[in-house]
Amino acid sequence: MKCSHCDSEAITFIRYNGSHLCASHFRRYVEKRVKREIRRQVELRRGDVLAVAVSGGKDSMVTLHLLHHILKGKVELDIHCLTVDEGISGYRPQSIEKVEDICAKLDIPHHLLKMEDSCGRGMDEIAPQTGDSTPCTFCGVLRRSCLNAKARELGANYLATGLNLDDTAQSILMNFIRGDVERLARMGPHKKVQPGLVPRIQPLRMIPEKESYLYAMVSGIDFHDAPCPYADRALRNQYRSILEQLEDRSPGTRFSILSSYDSMAPMLRQGFPSAQLGRCECGEPALGGRCQACLLLERLR
Ligand code: SF4
Repeated sequence: MKCSHCDSEAITFIRYNGSHLCASHFRRYVEKRVKREIRRQVELRRGDVLAVAVSGGKDSMVTLHLLHHILKGKVELDIHCLTVDEGISGYRPQSIEKVEDICAKLDIPHHLLKMEDSCGRGMDEIAPQTGDSTPCTFCGVLRRSCLNAKARELGANYLATGLNLDDTAQSILMNFIRGDVERLARMGPHKKVQPGLVPRIQPLRMIPEKESYLYAMVSGIDFHDAPCPYADRALRNQYRSILEQLEDRSPGTRFSILSSYDSMAPMLRQGFPSAQLGRCECGEPALGGRCQACLLLERLR
């Protein structure tokens, strides 16, 4: 099959808009939407510090690659790459190697944050003690805390993450089904700057997971392609499977969920304005006296 825009062979069919794309047009198609998202989410200025959370998986590696290539030469930024080592043996060490390689190639400083250093223990120790909660509940909160602390220490204006369209649509659906409207209202990307909390941006917010994977492949990005040993216990797996079925029957469902959410977000934020954040004894911002990470660690004790 030929590309819808030139005579080259198509490498993919985009079901939700009916186009066949060759490697070069596919790359441009992804880059155009990421550029639009960056413009929509953030106004970067000369001298800004941008921290990028990179685990070594496809999404975060594509995010770092794209931010570097899109912003290079356009605006003078100080980009830093942050990786959290959650202490998951047989999994994280391999992905850290991939991050070190890409940072060396792009000449970006790499900061490795060991969860054990800031939380007193890593995920291999925490996972058997999580009781009714999944390891991911702990890992997500502790990792966000490590990333925010380091980004703040670096004086970062923004913290970019590799959340793609599938992740975002899953989170919206999950919060709706749980009736957690307040959390829905607080979802990123963040425009409002809260003291101590580095605003998060999500350049891949409009990029489906499969497109992120294909982009990494056609761009020669060497990423770590193995599942975390704790991933099968993640609650979001059921939402992933519901969305995959919906998308299969009605291509474009994930985009519809996101655009419905974006239309409602201003009303949600009016109904649930950001609360005044205090400071936990660990130094992280907190609602009430203690931050989520310290409360979770307390539960383990
Ligand atoms: Fe952490 Fe869960 Fe991701 Fe594994 S799958 S790295 S435990 S959040």
